[in-house]
Formats: sequence, structure tokens, C-alpha cells
Amino acid sequence: MAVLAGRRRVRARVEGVVQGVGFRPFVYRIARELGLAGWVRNDERGVLVEVEGDSAAVDAFLARLEADAPPLAAVERVTPSERLTTGEPSFRILDSARGGEPDALVAPDTATCADCLAELRDPGDRRHRYPFINCTNCGPRFTIVRDVPYDRARTTMAAFIMCDACRREYEDPADRRFHAQPNACPDCGPSLRLVGAGGAVLGLRDEALRAAAAALADGGAVVAVKGLGGFHLACRADDEDAVAALRARKHREDKPFALMVSSAEGAGRLVALGGAERRLLEGPDRPIVLAPRHDGAPVARAVAPGCAELGVMLPYSPLHHLLLDDAGVPLVMTSGNVSDEPIVYEDDDALARLAAVADLFLLHDRPIQTRTDDSVLRVVRGRPLALRRSRGQVPRSQALPVAARRPLLACGAELKSTFCVARGARAWVGPHVGDLANWETLRSFRDGIAHFERLFAVTPEVVAHDLHPSYLSTAYALERGDLVPVGVQHHHGHLAACLAEHAETAPAVGAVFDGTGYGTDGTVWGGELLVGDLVGFERVGHLRAVRMPGGEQAIRQPWRMACAWLQDAGVRAPALARRVGAERWAAVAQLARGALAAPLTSSMGRLFDAVGALCLGRLEVTFEGQAAVELEAAAATAPGARGAYPLPLTADLVLDPRPTIAAATADVAAGRPAGVIAARFHHAVARATAQACARAAEGAGVSTVVLSGGVFQNRLLAEETAALLGAARLRVLLPERLPPNDGGIAFGQAAVAAARLAARAG
Ligand code: ZN
Ligand code: ZN
Ligand code: FE
Repeated sequence: MAVLAGRRRVRARVEGVVQGVGFRPFVYRIARELGLAGWVRNDERGVLVEVEGDSAAVDAFLARLEADAPPLAAVERVTPSERLTTGEPSFRILDSARGGEPDALVAPDTATCADCLAELRDPGDRRHRYPFINCTNCGPRFTIVRDVPYDRARTTMAAFIMCDACRREYEDPADRRFHAQPNACPDCGPSLRLVGAGGAVLGLRDEALRAAAAALADGGAVVAVKGLGGFHLACRADDEDAVAALRARKHREDKPFALMVSSAEGAGRLVALGGAERRLLEGPDRPIVLAPRHDGAPVARAVAPGCAELGVMLPYSPLHHLLLDDAGVPLVMTSGNVSDEPIVYEDDDALARLAAVADLFLLHDRPIQTRTDDSVLRVVRGRPLALRRSRGQVPRSQALPVAARRPLLACGAELKSTFCVARGARAWVGPHVGDLANWETLRSFRDGIAHFERLFAVTPEVVAHDLHPSYLSTAYALERGDLVPVGVQHHHGHLAACLAEHAETAPAVGAVFDGTGYGTDGTVWGGELLVGDLVGFERVGHLRAVRMPGGEQAIRQPWRMACAWLQDAGVRAPALARRVGAERWAAVAQLARGALAAPLTSSMGRLFDAVGALCLGRLEVTFEGQAAVELEAAAATAPGARGAYPLPLTADLVLDPRPTIAAATADVAAGRPAGVIAARFHHAVARATAQACARAAEGAGVSTVVLSGGVFQNRLLAEETAALLGAARLRVLLPERLPPNDGGIAFGQAAVAAARLAARAG
């Protein structure tokens, strides 16, 4: 075929999140608009397109591929190459190609779009009140994907055969549901059923939904609701009895429950929403956002005892929209599990494990492939800070600043476990799995890794792991036979995660404060001052170490840490000792003097525990970090509190909190309000940390400071420390997309392993 004047043909490879997001119809539309011929199709690496026509139109087409991409797409790269013209007459969408290495990125689950919401509420629409309405711009993705390429046959929608009307939408490039893989309607798609705790079916379809909403609104019921990534346990948020019953049955004593509210206006009546909070709340990934609760917000006391904040989210699936509309009140929506088990996501399992918790079960017949909890975040310094990264975020890829020369797996830590697989410059962090303590969590961890290795075609050759010898994640890593193990120190993992997220490869100072991490000297670290980059680190300072009387027991009983610190400081707190009991106190004080059953720790989390016990009288906690959360809440009640306790820094950068403990104890004895004591303690830690970081930065000749570790989930501490460092002209990096807690460790390990491979090769 002769080459026509001014006519050319270009093939473009498009990589990124480009499948299941309406990319092909978008390509079809712009090719038609520009009068171009050719074709587009999905394959293992994303989207492949060829266009032919007027040369200027081809250029315009290539420019618009990235610039005008649909809302859910994330184009990472467009690689064009010239081809011979063929004289093809029109533009077509071709079937997906199979074979070769899959490299297409699966999109996260996305909140119901405005178009679908309008149809959902339109009595004239064929999907009026259909709880599984979705389109190319919204709906389930990751939670239904079994394999790639992302096509209906490889999702949990495979068993549903589309009716003629749905099929027509699915095949029409001009339709909003063109190749929307979960496309469905009441005639052909999934449906609801309401089941009693005994297993009896109480209602089907819309009747099931209305009955569940009525039981929630009027009956004080606890309803297990099957959602997108697992089951929620729901009840009226303002019903003291229902919330208390849920708490008792779930065996969850103090951990706060999240709330679902029908709109941002409704949420604004419960919590104080700034612009950033509101944007995050209404974003397509719909996380739980923590924000300060209003005094007198109509929420049962048992929802979040001892917390100054409430976690709120907006409905993100059509089922949730309908449930909130019908119930007409904010609902508690907490993970469907008992105690610390992972969230339940299968019907049979729900009926068995939640039988003693829920009065009713609102089920549907679309299977969930991968359990995915709600993501949780709070706003710090005007930026999001992830506390739990899961639904809506997973499996979005994270860039590695130093590409992995060999495919790798990183196994994370133990609490708030996640894993990470990486290939080249891309890393995929798995959903929050939970504490790797029981068989169910471990199974979820193993299955999750296998699923991610398949989805993203990562066949790991290297496995990164924590140095802690008894973490189950470490044991798993070392079990993986032929893989080359790379041990990463826990706090280096925290530092590296934050550096990598900000694409930083140069060395920085890291103040890494958390509860527990295995140190290179075999002691328990957790108040660390590091200087390091992605490859390695040096410990240049730390919190003064004390004994942890009774080891793990000291985590559940913060008064033990108070006892250890008081003894170290040579100070007495008779009131606290009396409350504990003289004999117990003396026995623990004895433990704190010796090495027996009392490991040394430099943990900042444990220092917060000690001060929490001293100033709030908190003797026992039911989750790690609870005393610190309450201490922050107390400090928030005294926003103007002046004066910081002394917290001196030694010449070799050891923070010595003995004077801090002495001053706080004196304030307690003087009857000073807990809020003031908590605030003065926060000021002391912020000032000492900023001072220590500044000195470490000067000593190492660096100008960047990373603040990470679970302790920096504390907004008061993070913002005050960052402000002081900023005033000292240092650049401050805080985690944003990856959590500062151990949920970020796997990504940090991956970044370290990749950087070490490159350093060795270089
Ligand atoms: Zn939609
Ligand atoms: Zn249909
Ligand atoms: Fe940690």
C-alpha cells in the first residue's frame, strides 16, 4: 500500500492503571474525534493502540492519551513507535490478548460515581435501588479480581451471565458501561438476602435491604453487612445499648469504632472537618478519616471511649448508600471480626464466626476474592497520614527510587502486618492483614503474597525481612527456600519507607519512635535517632534505655513502665503505687532493677505508656499504644498549656527523660490537670527531638529529617516537632501514603533490598 502524503501510523504502548477504568472507550472516542483509523486492545502489559491518519491528528492523539485520560486511570508511560501505514479504514476495539508476562495494573475499588448514584435513586431507571450498580468509572475492582488481564471471566462476576440489556451496554463503545467488567442489573446480577442468626432466610432483594435498615433504625439490632472487601458489623451510632452490646459481643473493650454517615454535611455535624479532611472524605477511595469530635455530637459514648476524635467515612458502595438512606441515621460500621482476627469475607465463615455477635446478616452472592479492610487516615500538617492502607489504595503501585535489579518480596513486621512485592521500579504493597498472631492471619498473609505474585508477575529471587528472629514474617521469609534473604533492621525499615515514598535517596536524619523493634545489639529499640539512606544507617542517638519489667506484660500494663522509669529517676509516686498494690509494685520494682525477665528498651512508645499511667492513672490497656492515644487526647484538652518539662540531651545524643518523669510526677502530686501534664510532656518530647535531630543533622552534614514510627501517628507531637525543625531550616519528611506504623515496614524493606542490590552491582 502506498504511503499517502501527510499520513502516518503509530503504535503506542500505554502502561499504568489502564484496564478496567474505561481506557479503551476513551481511546476509541478520541480516535474517532480526530478521524483516525486503527485499533486498541488490552494485553498483559496494559493497553496497546495503533492509529493511522493525518500526521497532526496523530500527534494530537498522542498528547491527549495522557492529558485527557479517564478519572480512574493512572498513565505511567506512553511509548510510541512509527509503523508502516496499512490503509485501515476505521477504528476498532479488539479482544484482549493473552500470553506472555502480565504487567497490567489492577485498579483499586472505587466509590460509586455521581452518574450511577443518580440512576440508583431514579424510580424510572432499570437499576433503581439496585445495590450492585456500577460502571467504568466506579465499582469493585481489586476485591473481585482473580487473575489478569482484568476481564469478567477472571473476576468473581464470572458466574453471572449478562442479560441482553446489560450485554448491549457492555458491547457499546459509546456507553458508560462499555467493558465495565462487574456490569449487572436486577435481572442478571448479584442480589441480596437477609438471614437470621439461625440461618433462616428472612427476606430477598429490596425487601432484605429495607428490613435490615428498619432493624438498624428502630430495633437496636447489630447487623453483619457484607460489603466490598469484607463484612462490617453495623448498628445505630447513637444507640448506647446497641453499641455497648456490639462491644461486649465483639470482645473489643476500648478500640474505637468507625462510623458511616450519609454525607459530608452529616459528618460535619459529628466532627470538625477542615478542607483537607473533607476532600479526603469525599475522594474516590473513601477512607475512614479521623477528626476531632464536636462536644455533644449525637454519638453513643461507647463508640470511642477516651478518644478526642471519631473515625468517619461516607458510603462507598451502592449498598451502603441505600442502607444509610433507608436507616436515616449514622451507623457504626466496624470490621466484621471477633477480637484481633482478620475481617470476615466469606458468607459461611460470617454465619459461623459472627453468630454470637450479629442479630441479622445482610448477605449477597458476589464472592469477595481478597479481604480488604477500610483504609484509615488523619490529617497532619495539612497532608494525609495513613494509619491503615487498604481498600481504595490497594493495589496501587508505589515507585521505588532505586529500581529492584531482581524481583523481590518483603515480608514486613509482626503487628499491622503487610507484605510487598517489587519488580523494577514498581512495588505493590498488600492490604493490611493484621497481627500475625493466629492461623487465620497467617493464612491471609500467605494467600495474599501468592495472589500478588501472580497478579503482578513477580517471581521473587530476593526476600527482605525483619531482624527479629521470632517474628512469623521472618520465619516465613526464611522458609522460602531458594530466595536470597536480606535482613533489614526494623527502624531502618521505617526510615527507608518514608525516604522511598518521597523519592529520596540521599542520607537523612531519622527520628524513629515506636513501640518495639529488634535492635542490632539484641535489645528492644524504639526511640531511635538514625542517620542513613536506603542502603544503610548508623544509630547516632537514642532514648535512654530502661528495663521493661515482665517483658511483653509491660505493654499491657503501662504502670510497669511507670514503675521502671520512676525507679530510674529516683522518684516516688505513692498514689500510683497504692492503686497498683504495694506488693505488686515492689515486685515489679525489683524486676526493673535486674536483667531477669526485664529486657532493656529505648522505646519512646513505652515512655508514653509510663507517662499515661502516671498522669491518667491508666493501669491496663487493651491495645498497644492506647495510653499514648489517651495522652494525646488529654493534651488536646489543654491547647494553651505552657511550659515544657525538661528533657535533656547528653553529649552523645541520648535523650534523658529522668527529669521529665520527676517534673511530671511533681505536677501529678500537686493536683495539676491531666491535660496540662500531657501537654507539657508532648512539648518536652517535641523540643528534645527537634534539638537532637538538628545536632545529628549538623554532625552528619545533612539537611533532611524523617519523622516516622508509630509514635508519630500522634498529630500533636508530629506537628510540633516538624514546626521546630522547620524553624531550624531543616526539611521535614513525614509518611503520607504508607503508614508511619509497622504497616509501612514491608515497603521500607523492599526499598532497602533494592538499593543494596544496586549498590552491590554498582
Ligand atoms: Zn459509576
Ligand atoms: Zn442485566
Ligand atoms: Fe515499628
